[in-house]
Amino acid sequence: MKQKRYLLPQEEIPRYWYNIAADLPHSTMPMLDPVTRKPVDVESLSKIFCRACAEQELNTTDRWIPIPEPVLEKYSYWRSTPLVRAYGLEEALGTPAHIYFKNESVSPIGSHKLNSALPQAYYCKQEGVKNITTETGAGQWGAALSYAASVFGLEAAVYQVKVSYEQKPYRRNIMQVFGAQVTPSPSMSTRAGKDILTATPNHQGSLGTAISEAIELAQMTPDCKYVLGSTLSHVALHQTIVGLEAEKQMALAGEYPDTVIACFGGGSNFAGVAFPFMRHTICEGRKTRFIAAEPDSCPKLTKGRFEYDFADEAGYTPLLPMFTLGHDFRPANIHAGGLRYHGAGVIVSQLLKDGLMEGMDIGQTESFKSGVLFARAEGIIPAPESCHAIAAAIREALACKRDGREDVILFNLSGHGLVDMSAYDQYLSGNIVDCPYGK
Ligand SMILES: *Cc1c(COP(=O)(O)O)cnc(C)c1O
Repeated sequence: MKQKRYLLPQEEIPRYWYNIAADLPHSTMPMLDPVTRKPVDVESLSKIFCRACAEQELNTTDRWIPIPEPVLEKYSYWRSTPLVRAYGLEEALGTPAHIYFKNESVSPIGSHKLNSALPQAYYCKQEGVKNITTETGAGQWGAALSYAASVFGLEAAVYQVKVSYEQKPYRRNIMQVFGAQVTPSPSMSTRAGKDILTATPNHQGSLGTAISEAIELAQMTPDCKYVLGSTLSHVALHQTIVGLEAEKQMALAGEYPDTVIACFGGGSNFAGVAFPFMRHTICEGRKTRFIAAEPDSCPKLTKGRFEYDFADEAGYTPLLPMFTLGHDFRPANIHAGGLRYHGAGVIVSQLLKDGLMEGMDIGQTESFKSGVLFARAEGIIPAPESCHAIAAAIREALACKRDGREDVILFNLSGHGLVDMSAYDQYLSGNIVDCPYGK
């Protein structure tokens, strides 16, 4: 029988995260304080974030950062995640390509988000923080953070994008099961929320707005810090556990990827699977393509501009040098809530500028069609976000078929879609529309 799943024994699970900032060919431009226009330092960042994360955010010297023991212990509940050879999908496509996926959907909350939620909650606890606030779209990050907060004994307050709060009650319920307080955003509980609702009374919310509200609450509340689920460099750092495991598992399979693919919201699951392989591209000149699959309705990588912009709508965060559609961009209500974000992380933006990676736009219909094909071939129902990565992998596998290439393709299955069945229901009943940017 052909081997299909590769797991790592406990002692092989990586004990360090990989900090690509120490290896970048061109270092990133600094994050700026919007008032003084001076580069931010750990001191100013730790007014919003916990100090450990602020330090990691600005660390450009340490290539390997140790994973704290209590976090490793929690990781071991479900890590390593399986690396799977997608024989079923290969057969369905009739492609000579070897397709592998890293299955992050097996985490307790169903996505890669827990990889960063746990360390962020842990560091906050270490520093004597009692409350944490955050934003969430479809609810994956909120669910991960709510669980991580309960693990380390913190109170969590989550602002959920209003359209998702109303359309997807189950993840809201998951957060509530873990004891979090969930508020639809924009809300009247913050100045940022009030301002937005006054200007646009039936605003459906966006991640940018929810971030503003969460930061404002953190600044007004004693012993409270804000935590972010994507975009920032320390979140990308925590996610590298994915690619570091995958690297060892690919070696067990006796292969190395020609193409690495992930879907792209703010860039954390892409960074997670890609950076450890990109290390070999930067340091040893290995030839690998890195593809970030973004929705064509929110295409910051392919249609955005590289400029200084805020990570939130109200402008509470530092200014980040990034590919962005503008912090006031209002994405269409696509089902992949985690990809409805205006900007790309600072490091990925630099990598895109340097030609080390590429963006690929995927329409909503193509993504669901790919997700259904994958589900039938592999037995896993993917998150609507992950469907974008699958669609990109399928495009590449079909190109291999056309050219007779036996490429090795690796993609990250960032999460499962078992709490997103209303989206599949709409797809199967023919009610999904494409909403390309600018049309
Ligand atoms: C949040 C989320 C994403 C997008 O976020 P990134 O930071 O770009 O990874 C992708 N897939 C799933 C399942 C998510 O929950």
